[in-house]
Amino acid sequence: MQDVFNFNAGPSALPKSVLEKAQAELTNFNGTGMSVMELSHRSKDFEAVHEEAIALLKELLAIPDSYKVLFLQGGASLQFAMVPLQFLKPGKIGNYLLTGSWSEKALKEGKLLGETAVGASTKETQYRSIPALDAITYNENDAYVHLTSNNTIFGTQWKEFPTVTHAPLIADMSSDILSRKIEIEKFGMIYAGAQKNLGPAGVTIVIIREDLLEEEVDHVPTLLRYRTHSETNSLYHTPPTFSIYMLNQVLQWVKDQGGIDAIERKNEEKAKLIYDAIDESDGFYRGHAEKESRSLMNITFNLPSEEENKRFLAKAKELGFVGLNGHRSVGGCRASTYNAVPLEACVALSDYMKNYRR
Ligand code: PMP
Repeated sequence: MQDVFNFNAGPSALPKSVLEKAQAELTNFNGTGMSVMELSHRSKDFEAVHEEAIALLKELLAIPDSYKVLFLQGGASLQFAMVPLQFLKPGKIGNYLLTGSWSEKALKEGKLLGETAVGASTKETQYRSIPALDAITYNENDAYVHLTSNNTIFGTQWKEFPTVTHAPLIADMSSDILSRKIEIEKFGMIYAGAQKNLGPAGVTIVIIREDLLEEEVDHVPTLLRYRTHSETNSLYHTPPTFSIYMLNQVLQWVKDQGGIDAIERKNEEKAKLIYDAIDESDGFYRGHAEKESRSLMNITFNLPSEEENKRFLAKAKELGFVGLNGHRSVGGCRASTYNAVPLEACVALSDYMKNYRR
């Protein structure tokens, strides 16, 4: 089997060394004579994995002690509902900053559960950019301000986050967590599905400031309360043990790469290769995102016609490039250059783009 260049948008590439380690340990984890999937989630062996994953995440992202790290299920999509269930009380407003389809989906759940407002939106310009910080509208009674740090479908990314002091800033970081340095203190809560930069699907990470766990939640079903998970160290019920095991390996890998600083530099280098191929093409490749809002994780572009898009994608497939199709809702092309996508894959794609154009 030929090696492929995996540019999938999620689930997406995992570090090869992590997969090989998981393979080597699959039938005998840590001398237990069984796989990690077959252990009790309350066993010492699993507990070590679980604790190590929390500690590594805290270390890599420099998460202050005033925050809790939780491992939940239900994907980022369940967080769209859990956030308003928990925080959107009568008389309060869930303030959503719209930068793409995922923020719209978060807003949709908020609307089901309470009063909402749109503090900013770039929908009118096809979500090609991120709103200017001084164009955001806040309300005195905001329960929270919600944003999507990286827009997986449109290929834009917040470069600088608003400073919000009257309410917690809550961010869906599903598609760029662990890809760059983040000032955690700016946020009341951060959540992310694992299946891009963190590991396989199945576990959802929540980083929540402790004071937000004090909210009155008597009306919320037990499993949907953050407090339930914080009080039980995410072991209220059976967690997705294999996903957490893989997450732990991926975090170890990030640390071995030199941590977030090194990963961020590499991500910039990788994305530049592809954006340069776009910018130096005399308009043959047209990037969807405005330059100052460009994502380092999802690079979206179009060729001069739908026909050319198809030909470009078909030929790419023959050459071993996987996952370059744009999201089914917008079409075009998209290269997702998450942490585990090697530099060589981006060099190969950049070369292919140049050759194809010629
Ligand atoms: N938010 C963002 C930014 C995403 O990219 C995705 C999935 N691609 C989701 C939310 C939904 O995540 P999940 O499938 O884990 O519910």
